Amino acid sequence: MKLVSVIVPMYNEAEMADTFLTTISGITQSIKKTKKHIDFEIIAVNDGSSDATYDILKKWYDSSDNLALLSLSRNFGQEAAIFAALEKAKGDAAIIIDCDMQDPPQAIFQMIEKWEEGADVVNAQRKKRSSDGRFKRKSAGCYYKLLNKLSDKVHYPHNVNNFRLLSRRVLDVVLSMPEKNKFLRGLIPYAGFKTETVEIVRQKRQKGKSKYDIKAMVRLGFNGIASTTTKPLIWAAYAGIMLCLLALLGTVALITLFSFGILADYTLWGVICGLGFFSGIILLFLGIMGFYIGKAFEEIKARPLSITAEYLPVKKISYD
Ligand code: UDP
Ligand code: MG
Repeated sequence: MKLVSVIVPMYNEAEMADTFLTTISGITQSIKKTKKHIDFEIIAVNDGSSDATYDILKKWYDSSDNLALLSLSRNFGQEAAIFAALEKAKGDAAIIIDCDMQDPPQAIFQMIEKWEEGADVVNAQRKKRSSDGRFKRKSAGCYYKLLNKLSDKVHYPHNVNNFRLLSRRVLDVVLSMPEKNKFLRGLIPYAGFKTETVEIVRQKRQKGKSKYDIKAMVRLGFNGIASTTTKPLIWAAYAGIMLCLLALLGTVALITLFSFGILADYTLWGVICGLGFFSGIILLFLGIMGFYIGKAFEEIKARPLSITAEYLPVKKISYD
């Protein structure tokens, strides 16, 4: 027998929780019919929801045997919620999925097939992303190009979010990474192992609202870069050298202009503008450094990534 853990983070998903759990139960039941040696546990994380998500999940928990309910003490964010559940997963493989039906749960069947054929990671890659707006598509495309440029050996696939299957050994590698700023989309490709892809069409969110506004997307993007590469720190050094050269050239030019008596009243403004421009650049790179220092600080503090308020484990795994 093999056990597959389905991990689903939920934050204010009262409108989706019933639909998701009904669908996922149906799908896992039908997979179990064709694959008698597979069983499922579903680990739902209530990521500090302020709506009725917990009550709905608790009702489901009371009436099901293979559902685990993990409630965090407040909202920690999707990545932290996923990690909290991955730590509880007992499966030989884990599948991470959103609860808003954007990740088509039907793809789980193919993911398991690929895993049984020997894949350690199965990514669900979006063929079409028409359900996302133009801005989200374009910005995601540019972001993954940049991330791949910045990294030497690891390839970060485009159009793949957290909807993936991880074998136990990849899961163990990812869980054993000591850092606190965990960026799953970076850690899984970093872990390596045989990776396969199933193609999906990303659907529109059925109900409720996306939790990712521009601010949250930018934060995730910066976290991703800071947790995968330190190359931007080197840019600061290059920029520093360039600035020194420019400043030297500028000084020489100024002295020349002065000595020929060409400079008039606008000089002062030129100097002020120049100073403003250069201090801006310095501040920008100081900002980038500060960002990394901030991250290092977080790692040193070594706070837990999330805090569990309650954990109700699976009552029994049926293996029927
Ligand atoms: N989510 C979460 N905690 C958060 C934000 C989101 O657990 O702080 C969950 C959310 O309930 C959903 C999944 O993460 O199951 C993806 O979120 P969403 O659909 O808002 O993201 P999008 O698809 O818009 O990128
Ligand atoms: Mg969504």
